[in-house]
Amino acid sequence: MNVSPQPNPLNPASLPLIPAVSFSRKPAAPEPGEPAVTPPPKDNPTSFVRKPKMASKPRKREIPEGLWTKCPKCSTMLFDKELDENLKVCSQCQYHFPIGSRERIHSMVETCTFEEMDAQMTSVDALGFTGVATYTSKLEAYQKSTGLKDAVVTGIGKIGGHRAGLGVMDFSFLGGSMGSVVGEKLTRLIERATEKALPLIIISTSGGARMYEGMFSLMQMAKTSAALAYHAKARLPYFSVLTHPTTAGVMASYATLGDLILAEPGAMIGFAGPRVIKDTTQAELPPGFQTAEFLLDRGLIDAIVPRREMKERIITYLGYVTAGRNGSTAAARI
Ligand SMILES: [Zn+2]
Repeated sequence: MNVSPQPNPLNPASLPLIPAVSFSRKPAAPEPGEPAVTPPPKDNPTSFVRKPKMASKPRKREIPEGLWTKCPKCSTMLFDKELDENLKVCSQCQYHFPIGSRERIHSMVETCTFEEMDAQMTSVDALGFTGVATYTSKLEAYQKSTGLKDAVVTGIGKIGGHRAGLGVMDFSFLGGSMGSVVGEKLTRLIERATEKALPLIIISTSGGARMYEGMFSLMQMAKTSAALAYHAKARLPYFSVLTHPTTAGVMASYATLGDLILAEPGAMIGFAGPRVIKDTTQAELPPGFQTAEFLLDRGLIDAIVPRREMKERIITYLGYVTAGRNGSTAAARI
């Protein structure tokens, strides 16, 4: 019996021959002409040095400008429409943003009851002020950008059930500075309120007297104060509302002459700026100096009223001071 010998695994010579071709592998490399990996750029020998571009930059453009506002106090992004509905008060931290005079009047008076006075009154360049730009060109630029003729809007309107004279300053017009127009419009408003036996409310925000009109600005302090004296003599109430910021010549005249002085939370209120006071007195100023809260503690102002409650509070106070009297008896006392 012819039996083929069993292969001895220890003896390679006894192993059957396997064609070498069966061991050949298909090369892993791609077809010739096609590189295995993208070759690094010639000027940059190591491809990992260059950082991949982050996709975060274009995300900034996903928020269209003019739709969101960042709160400077708590950094919350606030939707502009909601901010407007909230009278420009941050819903998270109650920070009071600046608000325009028109919006404020809208928030205070009953719809369609505001009769504006002296709407077209504008300043003239009485001193021929020269500087980087002429006063006239500055006025024109601000009139164009704000849609206002000057830094105050005055008129008579109904607040709750009370007819009242209302003057509202606007910081966006030349820093709410008081020149001859602000003084004259307010004086006419005060005189009209006195004549018609109406209570008066002036909401102030101002950097002070307007330097472009020199002495004409300064004399408005005396003029408005004198008109208020006649209003007070007629035993008519005057409420002064101080908003951020109310300083200098306005603070030194009609803003502090209110029978009732109210302020918005966090408003900066003072005569000279803190740096000037520090330099003059050479003293350390206490924390919170010149804020509404600081002045409430020291009795300069009577109450701090959040903007959203301002109208209701003024209606309440007007109710207190006009209780048991009517306009005609007050007018008869002049
Ligand atoms: Zn906030």
